[in-house]
This record gives sequence, C-alpha cells and structure tokens, in this order.
Amino acid sequence: MNSKLYGNLIFELSHPGSKGYSLPSNPYEPTELPKALLREQKPELPACDELTVARHYTNHSGNNFSVDNGFYPLGSCTMKYNPAINEEMAALQAFTRLHPRQPQNTCQGALELCHTLQQSLAELTGMADFTLNPFAGAHGELTGLMIIRNYHQSRGDTKRTKVIVPDSAHGTNPASAAVCGLEVVEVQSTPEGLVDVEALKPLLGDDVAAMMMTNPNTLGLFEKDIPEIAQSVHACGGLLYYDGANLNPLLGVCRPGDMGFDVMHVNLHKTFSTPHGGGGPGSGPVGVKDFLVPFLPSPHIVKTEAGFGIADDSFIHVGQHLGNFLTNVRALTYILTLGREHLRTVGPLATLNANYIKEMLKDVYELPIEGLCKHEFVFNGLKDKSTGVTTMHVAKRLLDYGYHAPTIYFPLLFPEAMMIEPTENESKQTLDNFIAVMRQIAQEAKDTPETVQSAPHNTPIRRVDDVLAATHPILTYKQLLHDN
Ligand SMILES: *Cc1c(COP(=O)(O)O)cnc(C)c1O
Repeated sequence: MNSKLYGNLIFELSHPGSKGYSLPSNPYEPTELPKALLREQKPELPACDELTVARHYTNHSGNNFSVDNGFYPLGSCTMKYNPAINEEMAALQAFTRLHPRQPQNTCQGALELCHTLQQSLAELTGMADFTLNPFAGAHGELTGLMIIRNYHQSRGDTKRTKVIVPDSAHGTNPASAAVCGLEVVEVQSTPEGLVDVEALKPLLGDDVAAMMMTNPNTLGLFEKDIPEIAQSVHACGGLLYYDGANLNPLLGVCRPGDMGFDVMHVNLHKTFSTPHGGGGPGSGPVGVKDFLVPFLPSPHIVKTEAGFGIADDSFIHVGQHLGNFLTNVRALTYILTLGREHLRTVGPLATLNANYIKEMLKDVYELPIEGLCKHEFVFNGLKDKSTGVTTMHVAKRLLDYGYHAPTIYFPLLFPEAMMIEPTENESKQTLDNFIAVMRQIAQEAKDTPETVQSAPHNTPIRRVDDVLAATHPILTYKQLLHDN
C-alpha cells in the first residue's frame, strides 16, 4: 500500500497489546452477558498508546483548511470569520447543559435569546417573524415552500403546483421545490446575467405557487427589476421566495421584505458568521410576512404575558426540537457585538472587497459581465485561452500557494466559471496578496503551463481522481486493504 498516498491510518500505527487507557481493577464479580448479546468476533480496533493517538489526530487536523488559517474566497459560501467571542458564548455551561425537553420555566433565558434572534432577523430583513428550526439553507427552502404550499391550500387554491426558478439559481432551489412535491419551471437570464422579465411573464398564471430568487444572484448581480418582478408574481397570485444565503451584501443597505419578498431563509452559517463546512452544524431560519405567520412550523418561540413560551399548534414540523441552539447563540453574539452601527458596514465592505479583486484581475482573467458587482463575481477562466490552462488547473495551483480555491464551474452559465467572494473580513493586504498570486498563476500559464496543469505540487495529497472517488469510493480500511 502506498502510505504516501493515503497518509498513515490509525490502523497502520496499531501495535497489538498497546493501549491508551488504564482502568482500576474490578472489585466486583464479572457478570456474564447473555450469549445472544455477544459478538461472534472481537471488533477489529486499532491498538495504540495515548501519545500515538494524540499525534495522529493532531497531525491530521493540520491538514484541514479553514478560515482560521487562510483566505477562503469560496463564492456563494460566505466563508466568514467566526469570532472567538461567539465560541466563548456558545461554550458557556448555562447553554451547553440545557436539555431540549426541560420545563419552559427553567430555561426562560435561552428562550429569550432565541426570541431576540427571531426579532433581530425580522428587523434586519423586513419580515414579520422567523422560525429558527431549519437546520440548513436547503432545509429552510423546503420549510419556506411548505409554508407557501399550505398557505395556498388553506385558501382552497389547489391548482398552484409550479415554482419558477432562474437558471442562475443555486442547485438547492430546484431540489427543494421538487422535494416539496412542486414542479420546477426555469426562467432564463438575459445576456447581462439578470432574470429576463419578458421571458418570465408568459410563465405566470394561476398554477404558480411561487418564484424563488437570489438577490444579488449567484453572479453577484443585483436584480434591479425586482419591483416589477414582485408586482407581476403577486398579480398572478403567486408568492415570492428569497434565497437569503446571499444576504451578506444587503446588510445595512436594503431588506428583502421591502423588495416584495413574502418568505425567505437566511443562513446563520454564512451571513451571521457561525462556522460551516464539513456538513454542519448549520442553521437556516425562515422568515415570513404577517399573513404567513400562522403557517410557521412548530415548535415556535413566542412571547406571552407569562414570559417566553413554546407554541405547538402549526401544520408543519421540520425538526424534533428548536433547531441548532448553540448556533443561535453564536449568531446573536455576532449581531450584538457588531450592533446596529457596524452591521450597516458589512454589505458595503463585502461589495468593495469583491469589486477591488475583480478590477485588479480583469485584465488577465475573463470577466464575462462588466460593471459593478455586489459581494461576489464570476470570471470565465483565464483571458488567454491559448495556454490550455483551465479553471480547474488554476484552482489546484492556488492550493500550492496556501489559498482555498474559489467556487468553480458554478454557476453553469459560463463554461469556465470561477466564483470569487472575499467577504468583508479581509484586509487590503490579504486581498493584495491574493491578487498577486492570481496574477502569478496567469503568468505561469503562459511561461510554464505544465506547472499549473499538474498542480497541486506541495499539498499532502496531490491530484485526486474525482471520478474514481465518486464512482468507487473507498470508505473503510478493510476495503482499502482489499483494493490494494
Ligand atoms: C449555500 C447556499 C444555499 C444552501 O445552503 P445550505 O446551508 O448549504 O443548505 C442555498 N442558496 C445559496 C445561494 C447558497 O449560497
């Protein structure tokens, strides 16, 4: 087996007889377990001493890339720094020792915290109320669409089964609509990258449940026709859903509720700085306008004369309890530490940073849509297409220089898409260093294209075979031994 390729596995470090624990001798008679409950064979566990285990996992943890060790311009993901104060608050024992089913009168503080977060999100977005229950952005989309479906059905308006989704939308939008049992209808973008209002109009009718939009869209462009779109969707009886994963550039500038959106989700793990990646813990609160508040899922935190309570009277449940509580703690900490005054600067600074990178690189990378962007923008690969260096090669080469790659090959509108989102957190110095490296790679593509095409050269694992990994994943140590 090529241990360079796979790194040391804990099984390879195993020495029969080693152990990392010591238990006091058992003063009681050993109890025999019933035979039916015993394993037929002993589990194949690695045997290692404590220090070997500590080093093994510490060394592996060093292979992780995170916002804490480098610039992470992953478009559409808003890889924002999670300030240490958020973690300190989330680690308070008063929060970590709560039980989801403890009596409400013993956790009034925690309920107030969630209620304050619901209210803060409502104020920041122009909605009437929020639920904190959904566990991710996609889960929020599904929740929002269930709310919309139930709203139409409650009025006996059962014909509305279609959801209109722009072709630039995040893949979760059509997926959520399909999971909700609704039919997805795609609307095209104009050459300028905005929803084509003329193409939209013929799609609107009494069978439309909703239109989902991301604004700014995934090209980082503000949908300036939103008043007309909102008016047209409402005129046909449909509702407007806002994919608020891209809320960051709007903070302090404008609110989806004021643009005519009826339902929306936000990603606490993007705009509100709670950590994400690796599958969790996410949170996708859903906000609604007044007329949809009765359709929010249960359990829902409400303020009553007697204090904070949990209402459990809705049509839908989307999770067992009240969502990812410690993520709520982090998000509210973030909101309160920035305060009204500094939250206002988030959107404008994120927008400034993205435009700075775009302008400094557009002579060497192809910018398919000119003009001001919001918090992110898309290049279509290198400007010089004669070198044979693709977006994938540039992304891999960035790893050699210690940067996370941007989002690549999304959105699908441009074949060599490279989507860059710096966020407001980064200093000018960091942006300048990144710009210098991107220019350096463009130069290498001209001078020594093989260097870029065979990158990465100095990461722990070099080029992985994406197709093989997807079609033939090796998920257990036994399989690895067997396959080699
Ligand atoms: C991240 C993202 C989502 C999905 O959020 P998850 O928490 O990953 O489910 C949806 N839409 C857009 C535009 C996003 O960037």
